[in-house]
Amino acid sequence: MDHLRMVDMEFYGYTGCLPEEKENGQTFVVTVDMACNRIPGAMTDNLEGTINYAELYERIKNYVTTSKGNLIENLAYNIGGIVLDYSDIPDSVKVTVSKPQAPVVGMFKTMETTIELNRVQESGFKHSVVLALGSNMGDKEQYLKEASKRLMMSGHVQIIKAGGLYETEPVGYDDQPYFYNTVLDVKTDLEPEELLNLTQKIELDLHRVRTIKNGPRTIDIDILLYDDITMDSDRLIIPHPRMYERAFVLCPFKDIREYDGPVPEDKSVKFIGQFEF
Ligand code: ADP
Ligand code: MG
Repeated sequence: MDHLRMVDMEFYGYTGCLPEEKENGQTFVVTVDMACNRIPGAMTDNLEGTINYAELYERIKNYVTTSKGNLIENLAYNIGGIVLDYSDIPDSVKVTVSKPQAPVVGMFKTMETTIELNRVQESGFKHSVVLALGSNMGDKEQYLKEASKRLMMSGHVQIIKAGGLYETEPVGYDDQPYFYNTVLDVKTDLEPEELLNLTQKIELDLHRVRTIKNGPRTIDIDILLYDDITMDSDRLIIPHPRMYERAFVLCPFKDIREYDGPVPEDKSVKFIGQFEF
């Protein structure tokens, strides 16, 4: 086995269960250990035969410094996903994340976790999808969280990153409460229609009642993008036909994906904070 290692990368991040960890942040130390049978560049001396450390470093840095999840286990797992996504060279990756200043009273060097991902096992989650979530009934933020949890619990969806949480005035049918909207950057092993089956089941299970078109709903889950595909079937249009007209979709979308296109003017879209799924 050959190894490529990026050792003890230090970042300032906001992952942690306690509110002050998410608020004030702390130092994270990340080691990525990639393995494969033979690094092609070892034989060819070609740059394409290895990974670009600088680029991968930037991706990991961007993720660790903006993520606001609860667990370093999940952070490590997602870093592993980013690495396997970035390059075909490693067959497996071992990610260690430690918090030397973890809020624990007592003497210790660090608190850390190591997660190992194997491409064969993980390759099922090969499709990259952006989902839009919206709610305007009951405890709206809780519905968005519950939907995210159910997506993960399905065993078919891995959430890589969430956009901001935005409050917006309803479009179409006016006499209803404000919406909460966000987007999720996810990986899945489901085909587009299978994914729609899952999102519609979650909508139903969360008691979404379809009465008035564009009316109040506990939860709405839309598929914005699925890899690079375009499709137009009875049940599914991808990219989502209205995504580029909706500021409440594009605002959180810009938080997770590069987007330089126009965003329609909509003063009612208000940033609340990072969505914590
Ligand atoms: P909306 O999301 O526009 O407020 P609904 O959630 O009630 O409305 O969806 C109406 C229909 O849109 C669904 O039955 C679904 O089959 C279809 N649909 C078409 N394209 C998509 C997509 N990309 N994501 C989710 N639903 C879609
Ligand atoms: Mg919908």
